[in-house]
Amino acid sequence: MGATYFASDLHLTAVEDPIFGGFLRFLNDVRSDGARLYLLGDVFEAWIGDDDDSSLARATADAIKRTADAGVEIAFAHGNRDFLVGEGFAAACGMRLMDEVEVIHLAGERVLLLHGDTLCVDDVAYQRVRCQLRDPNWQTQFLSQPLSARRAFAQSARAESAAHTAVTAQQIMDVSIQSVDQLLASQDARWMIHGHTHRPAIHRLCDRRTRIVLGDWPRSAAWLRVDQHGAGTFVFDGKQQSLSFRD
Ligand code: MN
Repeated sequence: MGATYFASDLHLTAVEDPIFGGFLRFLNDVRSDGARLYLLGDVFEAWIGDDDDSSLARATADAIKRTADAGVEIAFAHGNRDFLVGEGFAAACGMRLMDEVEVIHLAGERVLLLHGDTLCVDDVAYQRVRCQLRDPNWQTQFLSQPLSARRAFAQSARAESAAHTAVTAQQIMDVSIQSVDQLLASQDARWMIHGHTHRPAIHRLCDRRTRIVLGDWPRSAAWLRVDQHGAGTFVFDGKQQSLSFRD
């Protein structure tokens, strides 16, 4: 049985971007020994709709589909940048769209998976925007606009996001520990894997609970690989850290 891979926050912008090349190399690794791949959000820097005719959308779908066709089961969780990825694109990739929070089993342990932005409840301004962008009426209206208008909107949203990040305290943009505690307790899980905050780390919490934060690719190619025995390799910032899901 093959390994389970996790990655998030690639923030892909163009096929010419070296990050895209890194993603292709990563998918090659996954094809060689992976059984499952979980993409936990913000694979794309922006997603304006499945009808996007960009070379990035097409090339990404082709690469993921090749991996799926090789027998890897692939699941994709929406991030705050690519929340508009729909069933059409998922089908083109041969992947499944995940629920906002999912529980999987790794070496017999219950492991919670999510993008992570919903844990950042102290960032009230962000949560308000998120609420609007997830509204089905807003999405229908947005997707009915021409691609050019949607591209312009995505660009201004990224500028606003950068401005917000620049003036908001780091602590406010991180996860709320209470939210993490509540979610783990509600799902009867000891493990959580998420991305979003771009602060790669393995956090050992009390009561033998662990929160793993995946790294962001603009900084460095980053992923977590877990073999069938629960032995994990956490890759971030050009480093590797070992962990065991049996601890
Ligand atoms: Mn994010």
